[in-house]
Amino acid sequence: MTKKIIAFDADDTLWHNEPYFDEAQERFCALFQDFASSQEILGMILNHQVKNLPLYGFGIKAFTLSMIETALKITQNNITGTGIEKIIAIGKDLLEKPVELLPNVEEVLQELHGKYKLVVATKGDLKDQHRKLHDSKIGGYFHHIEVLSDKTELDYTKMLNRLECEPENLVMIGNSLKSDVLPILNLGGVGIHIPYHTTWEYEKIDFEIEHENFIALTNIKEVIGIL
Ligand SMILES: [Mg+2]
Repeated sequence: MTKKIIAFDADDTLWHNEPYFDEAQERFCALFQDFASSQEILGMILNHQVKNLPLYGFGIKAFTLSMIETALKITQNNITGTGIEKIIAIGKDLLEKPVELLPNVEEVLQELHGKYKLVVATKGDLKDQHRKLHDSKIGGYFHHIEVLSDKTELDYTKMLNRLECEPENLVMIGNSLKSDVLPILNLGGVGIHIPYHTTWEYEKIDFEIEHENFIALTNIKEVIGIL
């Protein structure tokens, strides 16, 4: 393969992320267990998140606001100031979680560094993703960090234009078929999927991908053998 730019998704591709959100949601459900079942509450949070995406985008701050809106709904606007404070604390705790790299990430970056332009292409809060990149200590491997407000074909096209890269020269690696793989395949790049053990509901798709530029791996270290 003679691709020039290798782009990595960050959350659940370079470092652990989704389990922290799962834990936060459990804390939220526990706060309101007298009002509704966990399943109902999780459904309501997701609805609020998806409805708010065009306004808030992705990330922890958007998630916190969606939790607050969910709490208002659950309590019929009777949540107390103390209740709001507890929800904000759940969000702030998320913003202070340690950054733990996934296995083999650093050795793969070491191997590819210098041979390709390496890029991070992630959604989420700008400040939070920059914090995580700093704390991960792997920022030095990357030529460019792109925090996208979404991962549509248009978002990726803008990124490619900034990088002066043709889509066919891009390989994108990530844990989300919906956000990291499908748009890239549609643009003409190569999409490599490396599943993480848990996936946010919003990122799930209910069909199989069959495409000549689609590569399914089980561990990031397999990237070395195919590039
Ligand atoms: Mg991800």
